[in-house]
Amino acid sequence: MININGHTSVYGIIGRPIGHTMSPAIHNMISEAMGIDSVYVPFAANDDLGSIVRGLFSLGVKGINVTVPYKTDIIYELCGLEQMALDIGAVNTLKYTPNGYYGYNTDIIGLERELKDERVLLRGRNVVILGAGGAARAVAFLCASKGAASITIVNRTLNKALDIRADVAAYANKTGLYQLSSNIYAVTIKEIGSILYDDCIAFQCTNVGLSPNDDACVVHDLGFYKRVSVGIDLIYKPANTMFMQYVRSAGGVSHNGLKMLIYQAVSAYEIWHGVVVPEVVIYDIERSLQ
Ligand code: NAP
Repeated sequence: MININGHTSVYGIIGRPIGHTMSPAIHNMISEAMGIDSVYVPFAANDDLGSIVRGLFSLGVKGINVTVPYKTDIIYELCGLEQMALDIGAVNTLKYTPNGYYGYNTDIIGLERELKDERVLLRGRNVVILGAGGAARAVAFLCASKGAASITIVNRTLNKALDIRADVAAYANKTGLYQLSSNIYAVTIKEIGSILYDDCIAFQCTNVGLSPNDDACVVHDLGFYKRVSVGIDLIYKPANTMFMQYVRSAGGVSHNGLKMLIYQAVSAYEIWHGVVVPEVVIYDIERSLQ
């Protein structure tokens, strides 16, 4: 049990809505397991991010996670941010500094750590990303930075997929990934049959299939699933989504987004506290959330 006292440092998460968040459970479990005197609380935010950030800063809140819908707008309230967060255009972790809050994107670090755990290598692979929201954008940049051979973004609203394509292509050109920059595609869900590649890694980054809509899936085309050897659904509730079931029925391997969620929290915790969270603590958290 956390013993809150006058020295306890305060961390938290802002978002709207915020009632569903699992971050307080994860962060407080880590503090308890590691004996660190800190507490993590949810803050239901209104849209006045300037006032919120100034208030949290003047109260000395040491670190803040940011969730939907503020991951982009929060950037204007920061004193600086790491390069990858700047390239993606989204921040989910703020660290207190004397000059203001500094921003990071630990969603991308969380997914990278999940993929390492599951031994999924992106180098030289053809990637399909379903969705073009904030999570899909982070996934696209991770795939580019890890040397994917091609990236196809599939979204209901084509313009959003085209935006990500343009930004990832600019990043690929800037970082010398010239071959990738000419192999980034944006298509609508109806055009999914036009995907050029077999043996793809597919990331499910839409809200479709999220609890309580467990039976929903953004793509039902069985021909598509035959091309997928590994499918990662960013959704973690339910644990076995319809997308994952489709992937496995077609002979592929599938994973959900629980490890990504835990690792983005662990990475934020490590940035804030300057510690390494032991594997055994991460394992215990994963078991308690399953
Ligand atoms: P977002 O920015 O709101 O994007 C939502 C995406 O879902 C958009 O591409 C949207 O398409 C698509 N979509 C929504 N309803 C749809 C429908 N009925 N049919 C087709 N497409 C639909 O959300 P986000 O932040 O990217 O999050 C997306 C998912 O990833 C959520 O389920 C979230 O829980 C999960 N996630 C998990 C983690 C983790 O740590 N595991 C981290 C971040 C996010 P349009 O553009 O056409 O509207």
